[in-house]
Amino acid sequence: MPRKKKTLQTPGGFHDILPQDQPWWDFIYEKVKHFADFYSFERIETPILEFTELFTKGIGVSSDIVEKQMLSFRTKGGDDVTLRPEGTAPVSRAYIFHGMDHLPQPVKLYYFSPMFRYERPQKGRFREFWQFGFEILGEKSPVLDSQIILIFFRILENLGFKNLKVQINSIGCFQCRPYFKKIIKNFYKSRISQVCPDCKRRLKVNPLRVLDCKEERCQRIKTLAPQIIDHLCEDCHNHFKNVLEFLDELAVPYNLNPYLVRGLDYYTKTVFEIWPEAASSKYELTVEDKEFQALQGALGGGGRYDDLVKLLRGKDTPAVGFAAGIERIVQELKMMGRETPSKPPFQIFFVQIGDLAKRKSLGVFEKFIEAKIRTAESFSRDSVRAQLKIADRLGVKYALIFGQKEALDGTIILRDMTTGAQETVKLDNAIEEVKKRLRK
Ligand code: AMP
Repeated sequence: MPRKKKTLQTPGGFHDILPQDQPWWDFIYEKVKHFADFYSFERIETPILEFTELFTKGIGVSSDIVEKQMLSFRTKGGDDVTLRPEGTAPVSRAYIFHGMDHLPQPVKLYYFSPMFRYERPQKGRFREFWQFGFEILGEKSPVLDSQIILIFFRILENLGFKNLKVQINSIGCFQCRPYFKKIIKNFYKSRISQVCPDCKRRLKVNPLRVLDCKEERCQRIKTLAPQIIDHLCEDCHNHFKNVLEFLDELAVPYNLNPYLVRGLDYYTKTVFEIWPEAASSKYELTVEDKEFQALQGALGGGGRYDDLVKLLRGKDTPAVGFAAGIERIVQELKMMGRETPSKPPFQIFFVQIGDLAKRKSLGVFEKFIEAKIRTAESFSRDSVRAQLKIADRLGVKYALIFGQKEALDGTIILRDMTTGAQETVKLDNAIEEVKKRLRK
């Protein structure tokens, strides 16, 4: 018995996206595609499996993802591969591999795909989850950082979010960041006994990460710590100033967050996250929802990654992008009380009676589908009453009744579901007749 149970379960952190949740995925995809088309982004889908080296090199060995969260294995052929934990490194790899540097720059790409991270499964935190992401490769202008934030912001607004919060920071570049890392290390040297074990370790491998530590005991020290914003080189300083000025111009509300460093090593200069309305918001949240919100944090985030393509043996290619969590967005929209997005309703219902009519029904039904009339049916039912009951439940305006007599005469009955009035029309004219009535 337990064996059978196990084969029916999904592995921990993996989940089915059932038909009742698909409308959310469709709804988000439609918005994403709409904005992608508008801003001239083209879709790219990279494979789910990549060589592990892409992520160790690209994301960095000291990042949480590479250190703890990769689902990696060796193939029978001896290749070390990993289920992609994120989309930016694979998109950058594809950019190099397919010679996209020869295309007019910048190259604007977007994806809508599942990602895999070996995290502790909990509400809203999965080992397989979906992200959409936008990437602009090939140009370093700060206007692109602002535009990518704006696109993300506009998509979220269009999905129904209000009072979104953009958190933004600059983490410098390979010129000024090593210098700041030394400053941070020096600051923490005399305070090392007061910080959590994780921070002790981070100070050795990735000192910037002490700034986003969530441990209670590290908070006070953090507030006293030097801030990278005061130690940026001239180029990074001017870049950041410009990004903020563009955001001001676009009226995108943002908060400077000196503790935002993000977990991936490839970021340079601008980093940002977009958060939903705070837990103290207008919509009523349960205690569980509030805990969930605090735990899950941002709807998504991103930043500039000017050195990633070069790091992966490509040309010097500045780039900027973001990724958003789809399950995270759906969860938040549900907490806001949003109804499940609905499909366009059926317009008519096709009722068939008797063997001869049933045989011909599939072909007749097909014609209505070709004419793009949303037609429902229940071919497996024989009783007229049962079929009309379904038509009533679906709320269609008209039912088409096709029986033995109609099949022989080449006609069909058009029934007004509100008044019950019925009229026989020629089968050849049925589509036009239906369209005419639906237009009224
Ligand atoms: P990141 O790629 O880590 O910047 O994540 C971007 C967004 O993806 C986050 O803000 C979340 O919304 C979502 N996300 C990241 N990891 C997970 C996960 N394990 N389960 C569900 N959503 C996730």
